[in-house]
Amino acid sequence: MDDDDQQIETRAIHAGQQPDPETGSVMPPIYATSTYEQPAPGEPTEYEYSRTGNPTRTALEENLAALEGGAHGRAFASGMAAINTVLNLCESGDHVIASNDVYGGTYRLFTQVYEQYDLEFDFVDMTDHDAVEDALRDETEIVWVETPTNPLLRVVDTTAIADLAHSVDALCVVDNTFATPILQQPLADGADAVCHSLTKYMGGHSDVVGGALVTDDDELDEQFGFYQNSVGGTPDPFTAFLVLRGTKTLPVRMERHCENARAIAAWLTEQPAVETVYYPGLESHPTHDVARKLMDDYGGMVSFELDATLEQASDVVAATEVFTLAESLGGVESLIEQPATMTHQTIPRQERLDAGLTDGLIRASVGIEHKDDLIDDLEAAFDRVLVG
Ligand SMILES: *Cc1c(COP(=O)(O)O)cnc(C)c1O
Repeated sequence: MDDDDQQIETRAIHAGQQPDPETGSVMPPIYATSTYEQPAPGEPTEYEYSRTGNPTRTALEENLAALEGGAHGRAFASGMAAINTVLNLCESGDHVIASNDVYGGTYRLFTQVYEQYDLEFDFVDMTDHDAVEDALRDETEIVWVETPTNPLLRVVDTTAIADLAHSVDALCVVDNTFATPILQQPLADGADAVCHSLTKYMGGHSDVVGGALVTDDDELDEQFGFYQNSVGGTPDPFTAFLVLRGTKTLPVRMERHCENARAIAAWLTEQPAVETVYYPGLESHPTHDVARKLMDDYGGMVSFELDATLEQASDVVAATEVFTLAESLGGVESLIEQPATMTHQTIPRQERLDAGLTDGLIRASVGIEHKDDLIDDLEAAFDRVLVG
């Protein structure tokens, strides 16, 4: 059977991995080697040096490509190393458009690293297509989409943005970390490449840092490979092994993440202390219609705004016990954080407020524990801080 015909649950477990022909080992071995014997001088076989290629990494890269429905996958030492590789495509004078509530680390890379190399960035609300169109220039090289956005979970119409990007020959790259290929497939929607922080849902157990790029375009993949090898932000084989272990259960984990997040979002809408709930599965969410069109389910992230001061919101995230107070997301355990003081504190205050990231905003990465325990935990924290 052609792998492309298989369902994603099957590809998640088998793509890139066959039992080892020599030993029968069901999982690909962790090839802990830096170099490979050459049969004759200057005539290496498939592998030559492990920055350039390693069989455990190859298994992961094939698995990632199959999950995203792309021809080529590239694995990196972190999500930021993957994002950096896309920026390596730019020359000085080029222009990049990105979401205005883009991941904090991406914002920092763009403004604090790449602006000094004469790249120009515009941060726009990607749900406002006129704003994106107005920002396009002849020099625009990349349109960087994050969807759902972080932390307001606005869903971007990737197809529309990709069309706009292509109208000036720019690449549309989608950071699919929050949704994963289980919930949306940006390449099929028109994106040129997909990027991941494997640290989040793909790895899924908060025990590894990694990144990925997937594309269908041979030439683009060759460029990614050139920068992957030249800059050297590659993952070690143990990292590749851990992520492969995670992707096998991605479909079942995502199902539970979505189910729990849906229940928590519904509960939050009924709490008097909660001003707004940001969950794309709610009809009240401003991009619910786009989410219904492009996503198969609505994900495990829920953000909400408390009618509270910065300090009170800090106290709430510190008061939960099942939800761990931590940055990051996408693991089996539930995490909670305050964007204003944690993930988004590098964004200047006024810019942060303009983007809707208020002092009372809280972001939850809903894990796969029992949903009743999660709701009880939030209720207890609200009672302790806001009522008591
Ligand atoms: C975490 C994250 C990144 C960065 O990935 P790292 O693995 O931490 O380097 C990029 N984009 C999004 C959406 C993220 O959540």
